[in-house]
Amino acid sequence: MRHSDIKAQGLIRLLTQGLLALGEQKTANELGDRSRYIGMSDIGKSMECMRAAVASKLGLSAVPAATAVGGLAPDDLVRVLGQQLILQRGHWQEHGIEKALDATGVKLVPQLEISVEHNGVPIKAHLDFTLVWGGQRPAVRILELKSNGRILESLYASYEAQLYGQVGLLKSCWAEPSFSVPQTELQQVTFPQAIQRLFNVALPESPDNVDIEAWVLSISMDKVKPFGPYLPDMGMLETCLQTAVAIWRTTEDVRSASLGLNDLDYCQGFHPLCDWCDVNTDCPKFQAVSIPSDSACGLELEELAMLKERKTALEERIAESEKRIRQTYSLIGAQDWISTGNHRFRVVTVAGRKTLDRSLVLDTLSSLIGNEIKAQSALDECVKTGKPYDRLYIGKINKPLKSAA
Ligand code: SF4
Repeated sequence: MRHSDIKAQGLIRLLTQGLLALGEQKTANELGDRSRYIGMSDIGKSMECMRAAVASKLGLSAVPAATAVGGLAPDDLVRVLGQQLILQRGHWQEHGIEKALDATGVKLVPQLEISVEHNGVPIKAHLDFTLVWGGQRPAVRILELKSNGRILESLYASYEAQLYGQVGLLKSCWAEPSFSVPQTELQQVTFPQAIQRLFNVALPESPDNVDIEAWVLSISMDKVKPFGPYLPDMGMLETCLQTAVAIWRTTEDVRSASLGLNDLDYCQGFHPLCDWCDVNTDCPKFQAVSIPSDSACGLELEELAMLKERKTALEERIAESEKRIRQTYSLIGAQDWISTGNHRFRVVTVAGRKTLDRSLVLDTLSSLIGNEIKAQSALDECVKTGKPYDRLYIGKINKPLKSAA
């Protein structure tokens, strides 16, 4: 290896080690020992896949400790760095959003912790941001940030469960000493006490007349989309609490070996969680016929996976380039073709795609027929299902990390 390559790899190793150490510190400072309670993200995860949720409670993580980076093989180093950049991008955005909200002067509590015990199970919620308004019409807004490569079309069920858990706990524990702000002396106080001490704002002793909502902000590199509002719903909260008890008990059963991890329910079908899952190597969902990676078929499959990765990267570059050229075209006020070398370019406005708004059709039909059930069944009769087709699914196996030696 060339001297400059060795130096470059040292730099990558240092950065990876720093990101892992930062992640460890943040978890310890803000979340504490996650094996000793059930968090809202555990509840959300279990609603998608109980096996993955229990595995993470058991500490079965594929993320190496910061101190282990020196021993990682180069390809594992690149993989770990890529995962950490995606993961920690959310923390950086959180920091920036906190500063932006602070700059507005709004009364903001970052990382408010609510802790309760339900049927003997310790449960905690960590709220990214809690915004408070006092006065005649007191209001509280919970904001949960989700950093996404591309803005979400709709919210995953796991995110919604998290939100219902957070907003339900805020209301039901309002007057209980269940609230703490990590790294401050505010520990185990009621919500009005915390707000009084932080901002000198008096909130009512009961949450009944307080306007409480929770929202998710899906954030990409250049867009934000809010999802909400989610209101306190005691039925949804009860479901979350029961789910927490189920995760806790199941984790104990697996720990004591009265149940195996592979006996647990897991999510079916194609699921984005699987590519990121720390225990996907031996998941029964992917009981596979193993073929040697250097066989003709193995090589072709590996090549296909690599080509698809390149295709995704290319599509992102094309989209960025098109966006930049469209912006430049409008900035220079061009109206006509621009030609250069062997190509010509022009931006034209084309008619938007026509789609049918299903809920509008239902409303219109209902008012015409005067019966919503009949309108719904008329609509259902018009739905055409295409023939089943084969889809080739490619997923990453998160193999144990190799040593550099
Ligand atoms: S690989 Fe997928 S199905 Fe298996 S445990 Fe992980 S998330 Fe669940």
